[in-house]
Amino acid sequence: MYSHEKSQTLQTQAEDVILGGVNSPSRSYKAVGGGAPVVMDRGEGAHFYDVDGNRYIDYLAAYGPIITGHAHPRIHEAIAEQSSKGILYGTPTELEIGFANRIRDAIPSLERVRFVNSGTEAVMTTIRVARAYTSRNKILKFEGCYHGHSDLVLVAAGSGPSQLGTPDSAGVPKGVAEDVITVPFNNLEDFKTAISHFGDEIAAVLVEPIVGNFGIVEPMEGFLEAVNDIAHDNGSLVIYDEVITAFRFMYGGAQNLLGVEPDLTALGKIIGGGTPIGAYGGRKDIMESVAPLGPAYQAGTMAGNPLSMAAGIACLEVLEKPGVYTELDRLGGMLEDGLIELINKYSIKATINRLVGALTIYFTDETVTNYTMAEASDGEQFAKFFNGLIRRGINIAPSKYEAWFLTTEHTEEDIKETLSIVEEVFKNEF
Ligand code: PLP
Repeated sequence: MYSHEKSQTLQTQAEDVILGGVNSPSRSYKAVGGGAPVVMDRGEGAHFYDVDGNRYIDYLAAYGPIITGHAHPRIHEAIAEQSSKGILYGTPTELEIGFANRIRDAIPSLERVRFVNSGTEAVMTTIRVARAYTSRNKILKFEGCYHGHSDLVLVAAGSGPSQLGTPDSAGVPKGVAEDVITVPFNNLEDFKTAISHFGDEIAAVLVEPIVGNFGIVEPMEGFLEAVNDIAHDNGSLVIYDEVITAFRFMYGGAQNLLGVEPDLTALGKIIGGGTPIGAYGGRKDIMESVAPLGPAYQAGTMAGNPLSMAAGIACLEVLEKPGVYTELDRLGGMLEDGLIELINKYSIKATINRLVGALTIYFTDETVTNYTMAEASDGEQFAKFFNGLIRRGINIAPSKYEAWFLTTEHTEEDIKETLSIVEEVFKNEF
């Protein structure tokens, strides 16, 4: 079992200067029983090495962006080359045109594109654009889906589909929450009720087409098509938040995979190759609402910076190679099958949702199709599982709501080693 002495010392130092010792709350181990988060020293492909010298197989992938593994040589080269030419210009560059074209070629519904710096910014701006275009205020979103930390999307569900939301964070004004309606994912009846109740007040429906934020949850047959039709009949736009899903399951978006097109799309994570990035885009006539062409304002000192453009292009070049997603799917299948075998062998109450190289283990025996079900999964069992893994060399997110992400650098060896560690955890700690 690993010792994490140096991590603990560093965490004490961190807490003295960085609020809570972490720069994003999801990095804290609060949800898995507390303790100091492991402090990583370096990443190499599918592996991490911490400050105590322990090695891990990494399935966090930095919450998704690192799909080509840590320190991928192609991305490293692109960043090094660009940094020798300057990392921030504040002027247009040829790189951003090339990258925008590459993204539009992969996801054609983005007729016009804008780069920003995070998924939060991307989603926040699509909402502003939708409000500007429709001259309406309200947003309908789905329960449990995370869309970044801007005020409007930090809103929890009201008690029914005809109820407005309530702030999910201190500091979000009640007035803001009153512009948000939240209904359960995969529940068309509640969606229809909300649309008929709020009708022409709804500017847009914000959807994660494949949920990544209460584990991996796919839409039920026909759900997204119906959401599109009903929203459009109501004069509302449809925004896809593809911050997690784009380039995750195929070279393109979940919208390509599922064959449904939104009006606007928000992107982030993978498209930056690990550097800070976001992007949004969509129908030309709607995007023309944005300055300098239209009245909706969005800007950014760092937006489209050459470093993120170069890293993003390099990442997509790696992902575009034939066979990348087939291999992610093959290894994902191997991991899923092995986990199911162990779950059965040790009679663990758990189920798995997987798509290509992303999966979630829920400690429940029900198939999870919405947030309420994910929430009902056993957090104490998950905490035991997480702590068993991190002490033996597997790094996953310290939350029962997050997914495991495979990278192009994981191998069969990694999967076999992972399964033998999971077996030890099930055998000794459950
Ligand atoms: N949208 C989704 C679906 C996300 O998963 C996230 C982050 O996890 C965001 C938006 C926010 O992105 P960022 O953390 O880059 O601001």
